[in-house]
Parts: sequence; C-alpha cells; structure tokens
Amino acid sequence: MSTPSLPKAVAVIGAGTMGNGIAQVFATCGVQTYLIDIKPEFVDKGIANIHKSLAKFQEKGSLTAEQVAATKDRLKATTDMGALAGVDLCVEAVTENLDVKTKVFQAADATLPAQAILASNTSSISITTLAARTKRADRVIGMHFMNPVPLMKLIEVIRGNDTSDATCALIDGWSKSLGKIPVLANDYPGFVANRILMPMINEAAFALMEGVATKEAIDEIMKLGMNHPMGPLTLADFIGLDVCVSILDVLKEGLGDDKYRACPLLRRLVAAGHLGRKTKKGFYIYP
Ligand code: NAD
Repeated sequence: MSTPSLPKAVAVIGAGTMGNGIAQVFATCGVQTYLIDIKPEFVDKGIANIHKSLAKFQEKGSLTAEQVAATKDRLKATTDMGALAGVDLCVEAVTENLDVKTKVFQAADATLPAQAILASNTSSISITTLAARTKRADRVIGMHFMNPVPLMKLIEVIRGNDTSDATCALIDGWSKSLGKIPVLANDYPGFVANRILMPMINEAAFALMEGVATKEAIDEIMKLGMNHPMGPLTLADFIGLDVCVSILDVLKEGLGDDKYRACPLLRRLVAAGHLGRKTKKGFYIYP
C-alpha cells in the first residue's frame, strides 16, 4: 500500500503560539484544517495570527495572493470537537499540563475515526502516558514542531512505548510532505530537544539571578561564543517562561534529579504573569 503524501483533513487542538503555526503549515500544503480552542476569541486570535504570517510570506514572495487566499479557505476555526469526526490526523497543541492534555486526548479519542492518528506537540510530557489513556495507543505519537512552526524545519517525532511502525512511517512521510525534516526520538522526559535545551536556559536564569552578568551580556556571550542565533534568555521569552517551567518540572519529576529544578527567578516571573513575548514582558520588555 502506498503512503498518502498528506492527510486529507487535520484538526489542530489549541490555537496558541504553536497551534496556529501548525494549522498554517498544514493549510498552506493543501490540507483541510480545523483549528480548535475552548473559546471563540482564542480561535479568532489564532486565525488572525495566521493571516498576519501569511501576509508576510506573500510580501516576501514565498506565496502568491492566490495561494494565500486558498490557504485561508482551507482553515476552519471552531470550538466544536465534533470537527474531529472527519479527520485523518489530530495534532494536540494545548497547554503543557498532563491533566489538561489527558482530557483533550480522551475527548479526541472518543470522536476521531478509528484509523486516525492522534499526535501531541508536547515539549516534554510522556507520549506513552497519554497513549495509555486512549484506546488507540498504537496510533498515538509525538510530533514536536519547533517555534516558529512555519519557518523551522525540524519535527522531533516521538515514538511511545506502543506506537506502531505503521504510525511512525505515516508521520515520517507526512512530515516530509509538509517540507519538514522529521527526526525520531524515544519517549523519555524532555525527549532530546528539551532535555538539552532547558538546562541551558535554566542555568542562564541562575546566572542572571546570581548577578554573574546582565541579561544582555549573558545572551551576547552565548550568541557570539557558541554561534547560537539568539541568547538563552531571549529564547526563553520566545518559548514562554511558563512553558519552560513546566518542562523543567517534567524533567525533574521524570528523571528524579534535582539538577533540573527550575530557577526561582523563572518561577517569580511566571508568578508575576511575565511569560515572555506572549505577554509582552519576560526577561525583556516587548513594546
Ligand atoms: P499557548 O499557551 O500559547 O496555547 C495553548 C492553547 O491551548 C491556548 O490557546 C488555550 O486556550 C488552548 N487550550 C487549553 N485547553 C484547551 C482545551 N481543553 N481544548 C482546546 N484548547 C485548549 O501554548 P503553546 O506555547 O502554543 O504550547 C502548546 C503546546 O506546544 C505545549 O504542549 C508546549 O509544550 C508545546 N510546544 C511549545 C513550544 C513553544 O515554543 N511555545 C515549542 C514546542 C512545543
């Protein structure tokens, strides 16, 4: 049996930073795409962000006006999980919290067609745990897109304990058809990307808290010295400081090692509601 190059219809649950980027990529590639969130204003904000991003692609000449119009037509914003009944793939991109994701996974499992694949964009939560809470553990997989999704090539594909070879092969093929580069990892806390990235961000926050250097100096040293495109504190603001703390908590709990404890300064900024770019204030201010 040949592998279809892309699913006909996809649902993306969660219209935040990642969800709207994921929906944009599928819709741009010709897939009927449902973007789902809990409140109409959240999906509307997600769709507005996609429209802004598509306009930039058009300005740069990477998409024609017709392609942008067709992409917009393929996007359906809804708060109705019933949309899942007609899709081949559902990508969950809701808040990084096991209870929230479990509820979404169980609702999705109950509505998706039997053969559909249920993927999570989680940064760190166990795919095996989520899969075990559904009746389709062989068709549950991690599709960890990178931020900003329309620009970043990598998809870290996470194989859960019971993910089937067929599911891995299908997701590998679909990811390539989206123009992405899938790389497979096994299901351990933080997988590869965040297991290595988060300790660096956390250490940068400790360095700032202890007065080792200013935030600008820490970022500049890491940028120029390590040839990173942006410094760790700028990157943390970009990812979301709440997301960083959640991932560190998963690493600490899952690997049972205190070295992953989140820096108190990170926690303080989150408690203050300064979550990074998305709230216009984190380590830096974004006017
Ligand atoms: P976000 O806070 O920007 O968006 C989350 C969205 O999920 C919100 O719009 C919220 O209303 C919605 N939501 C919450 N509960 C819901 C429910 N029950 N049903 C439908 N929608 C619901 O978060 P984000 O940064 O987009 O992160 C989403 C996921 O992607 C997380 O698992 C995160 O770890 C992962 N991720 C984030 C990044 C990043 O750079 N931010 C990168 C890779 C992966």
